[in-house]
Amino acid sequence: MTQHVIQFSGGIGSFAAALRVAERHGTRAMTLLIADTRAEHPDLWRFAADTSRLLDVPLTVVRDGRTPWQVFRDVRFLGNDRLAPCTRHLKQIPCRAWLTDHADPTDTLVYVGIENTKRDRRRIPAIARNWKPWITRFPLCARREPARTKSQLLNEARAHGIEPPAMYTEGFEHNNCHGACVRAGQRQWRHLLDTNPAAFACAEAHEEELRALLGPVAILRERRNNVARPLPLAELRRRHQQAPSLPDPDEAA
Ligand code: SF4
Repeated sequence: MTQHVIQFSGGIGSFAAALRVAERHGTRAMTLLIADTRAEHPDLWRFAADTSRLLDVPLTVVRDGRTPWQVFRDVRFLGNDRLAPCTRHLKQIPCRAWLTDHADPTDTLVYVGIENTKRDRRRIPAIARNWKPWITRFPLCARREPARTKSQLLNEARAHGIEPPAMYTEGFEHNNCHGACVRAGQRQWRHLLDTNPAAFACAEAHEEELRALLGPVAILRERRNNVARPLPLAELRRRHQQAPSLPDPDEAA
């Protein structure tokens, strides 16, 4: 029997992907595979448990054991929007190890909850390449599937009696790493500072530790006079606290 493995991130896209797979194939051969980064919002685990109950499929949790910050220290590199070793060490490697031990690539489909937007669809070829030899499917981008907005997907969870993850209601685009994602831009970090100053302070302290260890690195960059330079979280915070309503600067660098 073909195994159906959902790369369940705790995000609304992977929830909706799991629903589509359950409707089409049932849940007897379904796995909800989730990687624990030890940095998630606690409500992610509530949402994951609710999803598991709804589908009657236990969560299969894999973990490296480290946090993203511990990974950055170990690899001596602070992740950013171009290169995030935390994803590789905390998600891809543990999930791949599980697949290697439990899922025959010739009889397994791996489902990824990429949302059906132009920007997200561009990620599909690279994701499919990365998961080889396992065959990937993207249920929300299937031809038969009408494109749905995030808020429609969140309503789908509510219609099934599940409260969506708190991160979305707190105004974040994604439900990952408690909003302190090294791939996020200045706008999200400012939003984290506004909505959860304690989480921001924790990230700022970790970044400062890494700067002491590695030199003048930073998660964020900014461009001044056409020259890109690191923008430490501490500096972003000071500026935001002095002028909270300034429009977003050019985040590209
Ligand atoms: S969500 Fe962001 S910080 Fe967390 S593991 Fe992925 S890239 Fe790293």
